[in-house]
Amino acid sequence: MSEMLQAEIEALHRSVTMIARWESGREPGRETKNSRASGPVGEAASPGLDPKVEEAAAKGLGRLLERALPVGLRQRLEKIQKKLRARKVDQPQRDLGRELLELSDPLGRAGWADELLAGSLAALPGVGPKRAEAFARRGLERISDLLFWLPSRYEDRRRVVGVNDLEVGRTATFLAEVKVVDWVGTRRGGRFGKIFQAVVGDDEAVVTLKWFRGGEVWAKQIVKGRWLLVSGEVRRYRFSKELIHPEIEVIPEPIAPPTGEAVREPGRGGAGAEARVGLASRADLGRVVPIYSAPEGMNPRTLRRLIGQAVDAYADLSVGHLPEALVRVRELPSVPVSLRALHRPDSEIDVEQYEAFASPAHERLVLEELYLLELGLAMRRAQGALRPGVAIDSTRPESRTAAKALPFRLTDAQRRVVGEILGDLAQPHPMNRLVQGDVGCGKTVVAILAAVAVAACGGQTALMAPTELLAEQHFRTLTKMLSVAAEGMRLRIGLLTASLPRAEIKTLRGRLARGEIDLIVGTHALVQGEVVFRDLVLSIVDEQHRFGVMQRAALSAARPDGRFPHKLVMTATPIPRSLAMTLYGELDLSVIDELPPGRKPIETILLRAGEGQRVMDLIRETLGRNEQVYVVYPLVEESEKMDLRSAIESAEQIARAFPEHRVDLVHGRLDAAERHWAMERFSNAETSILVATTVIEVGVDVPGATLMVIEHAERFGLAQLHQLRGRIGRGGERGRCVLVARGSSEKSEARLRAMIQTRDGFEIADADLEIRGPGDFLGTRQSGQLPELRIANLLRDTQLVAVARAAARREIDEDPALSKAPATRRAVRKRWGKRIDLTAVG
Ligand code: ADP
Ligand code: MG
Repeated sequence: MSEMLQAEIEALHRSVTMIARWESGREPGRETKNSRASGPVGEAASPGLDPKVEEAAAKGLGRLLERALPVGLRQRLEKIQKKLRARKVDQPQRDLGRELLELSDPLGRAGWADELLAGSLAALPGVGPKRAEAFARRGLERISDLLFWLPSRYEDRRRVVGVNDLEVGRTATFLAEVKVVDWVGTRRGGRFGKIFQAVVGDDEAVVTLKWFRGGEVWAKQIVKGRWLLVSGEVRRYRFSKELIHPEIEVIPEPIAPPTGEAVREPGRGGAGAEARVGLASRADLGRVVPIYSAPEGMNPRTLRRLIGQAVDAYADLSVGHLPEALVRVRELPSVPVSLRALHRPDSEIDVEQYEAFASPAHERLVLEELYLLELGLAMRRAQGALRPGVAIDSTRPESRTAAKALPFRLTDAQRRVVGEILGDLAQPHPMNRLVQGDVGCGKTVVAILAAVAVAACGGQTALMAPTELLAEQHFRTLTKMLSVAAEGMRLRIGLLTASLPRAEIKTLRGRLARGEIDLIVGTHALVQGEVVFRDLVLSIVDEQHRFGVMQRAALSAARPDGRFPHKLVMTATPIPRSLAMTLYGELDLSVIDELPPGRKPIETILLRAGEGQRVMDLIRETLGRNEQVYVVYPLVEESEKMDLRSAIESAEQIARAFPEHRVDLVHGRLDAAERHWAMERFSNAETSILVATTVIEVGVDVPGATLMVIEHAERFGLAQLHQLRGRIGRGGERGRCVLVARGSSEKSEARLRAMIQTRDGFEIADADLEIRGPGDFLGTRQSGQLPELRIANLLRDTQLVAVARAAARREIDEDPALSKAPATRRAVRKRWGKRIDLTAVG
């Protein structure tokens, strides 16, 4: 029934409009022709007014006014009712028709309900400027904000216990008589204050209630001899129990003392139980009560009442946008029904399910939210998919030949992903694909094979890496691969970074412009200045999370001929799948979920400050087996100098300890040539130990390195640690990673624990997200691109993300501009704001 509100108002609007036009038509001195011509409803033009229309209007109004409605809407409907009643059969009235039209017109406009929902909270009875401000501090400004602000938990007051049965650490509801009240002076935080406290109890035990604030108000109600219904968390205080700022309901009439049975099992406790049952219907007793994190200074009960009223009056205006088929298949309740179920839970609910956000009502609201999010992403994707691209003939044999010429066999996952990429390259629209795979899964070779296919058709590929070190290393890998593969792989390559000599950069640019380079590897220098390609077909961004939006955009900008290059982004920062699907919702996703064979699991060892000797022993052992060692130092900007000094000192100390081995130091202050030679020496095993700041974090590949010592491991993020650890044990020897923690916090301990417990990148990502929370996890740079989620949680709702995404893509495939669903289109626009350009679609 409740979903009918909008339909009922539409019907009312139609009949009132007819009546109004009819009134205008018979109004003295008015032209009837005009209203006939402009009337949207044909019947309005008929000379007599159908009495059924009048009856429908009157009945509709009556029904509507019986229900809870927003104040403004109710007033409008009452005015309409008054005007309709003022009509006289035999006597046309001046202005009546016009007034009726003015009153009913807004109800015929698209989006009138949305406007009401977007109204300020001050429109709610009981919310004045002060409360509105308190809500605003919580980010609650519109009425819809309040409707979708779900309870964080539910308090089960279906059971009332005796005071003697109160358990420390649990929330409980009980009835008790006030025995003693009292003000106690205290000094808290250096300030004098007064605590209001009351000792309450039944005939078996007593407990103390305390108020550090607001006691003046309670002191008036909590008077010796009165009975209270008390609810809250029980704490231990010295040898007794207490409740701080409990929820209180004063029970006006004296009742028999309770004995502690459940309220829902009356009949055994005699008069007392009956009295309590009577109470149950009046108070929040015997119910499951929604608990919100109340804004500062707002009484929880008041808050519940305000939200309850808002739900009564406004929930029915809130329509859903999910496709009907999805709603049917998943048997979801409507949005208004869901809102009521969550804010005004009935006493039968499964509290655990509700608190886990797992009820059907939760599912509906979560899906609604995710659907709008995914619709926006799907529209973005559709925009990209409409652009002209450069199709290549991906059936040519070159990339297969190159794969065969490699010194190893591709994994099944690599083969699958290469296939997905080649499929996209053959399309006349630009590819937009994300390749995700754990550290060391072999993304580089996948990118190279795509470049080979592009080169075979005469096109160019740009591979952009976030650091010079990584670009240089990609170039080295390529050079090596080409020499091994010899005739099997034909690719003219180049390296472009900002620290190359000017003359060299100039030469490179010339060769690029003339089409003499097939694959250019570089840093963001690739998108700066006057780099011109002869025929850029494929842009690849490695470790894309390291780039800003603008840099990425630059590489996928249109070519001079107006067509767009294909875009491939690769990331080893494991991102939980659900996040990848939203954050990169406009991208197609390829996952390399398999590591090359023969990798031995890495052993992770956690050491604390003072265990330096263990570290030295491990280094000695490793060097004794002719294997190499990384020692990694964090480089945090604010203390850069100090960190650099400790890295230098450590390098010297290690060099002294192992005089027969060569030790090198790389850090961000070295110029490209020095860094290059240091990496080259390590790579050729001339150097045994590489002391480095995190510049080695991404992508460095030295198979002979089997030990990594990470100093100040507590200062690294989880993803960083995982990346670093992925550098070792690449050559088939068993790798060891030593985390040296020199400080600790709750979060850093959680990170270190996760590192020891799992090696799986996706599990690490989930742990990281859990430790940091989504906002921090994504960082401002990336989270700024997405609307904030109010109800859905990407970690918890992984499966629903996939459901919403599939539904959104299906919808947009059929109706790219959502022209058949204008309300949904409006909702997407509102949700996404400026972050999405809907004008370009359809
Ligand atoms: P990432 O995905 O982290 O960028 P890389 O592309 O650097 O990984 O590959 C890691 C290492 O694995 C490289 O030394 C690479 O040559 C090697 N490799 C890639 N694919 C395979 C494979 N199928 N079999 C064996 N080794 C492989
Ligand atoms: Mg890589």
